[in-house]
Amino acid sequence: MIVADGVTKTYPSGAGSLTVLHEVHLEVEERDFVAIVGPSGSGKTTLLGLLAGLDRPTSGRVTLDGVRLDTIDEDARARLRSERVGFVFQTFQLLPTLTAIENVRVPLELAPGTGGESGFESRARELLERVGLSDRGDHYPVQLSGGEQQRVSLARAFAHEPTVLFADEPTGNLDRDTGAGVIDLLRELNEEAQTTLVLVTHDLDLAAMADRIVRLEAGRLVSA
Ligand code: ADP
Ligand code: MG
Repeated sequence: MIVADGVTKTYPSGAGSLTVLHEVHLEVEERDFVAIVGPSGSGKTTLLGLLAGLDRPTSGRVTLDGVRLDTIDEDARARLRSERVGFVFQTFQLLPTLTAIENVRVPLELAPGTGGESGFESRARELLERVGLSDRGDHYPVQLSGGEQQRVSLARAFAHEPTVLFADEPTGNLDRDTGAGVIDLLRELNEEAQTTLVLVTHDLDLAAMADRIVRLEAGRLVSA
């Protein structure tokens, strides 16, 4: 499903450059749940962004669902993401000017050949209900708690039935109980949709739920 082969990412830095990922090799099978752990600054977010096609490696190959992400341009990557990729962020990243229901509709409107106006609305309502927020559809993100915002972003992430879901420290900004609720929901939705899941976390209890744990240290993948 996902193959990263010799993936290196270098950023320009002052007069020189900073290599934040060194020749990373990772393979994720279809429907696998892989957790990426490692200290802050070790390159976890960078790696996730490359696997999800948000960014391109400096060298090396990334293949997602049979498509080479390192060779296609941003438009093609954006199209692929809108068709096949879901993303959950630590900071929720809901659009502040849209209501909860409108946020969930965004990926439906971007995905090709789905539903039409009434289909979008009913699918978005169904998802909000699934995450326990059917009475909050008309609320804006600022009117929702952190846990509620993350549940809206789960509904958004699964809306267009992605084949792969990437989650970057999805509980990082939540207290322990709220985070646990979000994780239960994430696992349920993932189970139902049979999505491949790649999740970055600091939380070792959460990582322990994964089929496999990989560890990054200073931009290098080491076995966990
Ligand atoms: P993690 O998610 O493990 O905390 P990151 O992937 O966010 O780590 O960052 C890894 C390293 O890359 C850090 O040293 C960070 O400062 C650096 N970095 C991340 N993004 C950029 C960027 N756009 N430009 C320059 N350096 C970056
Ligand atoms: Mg990070």
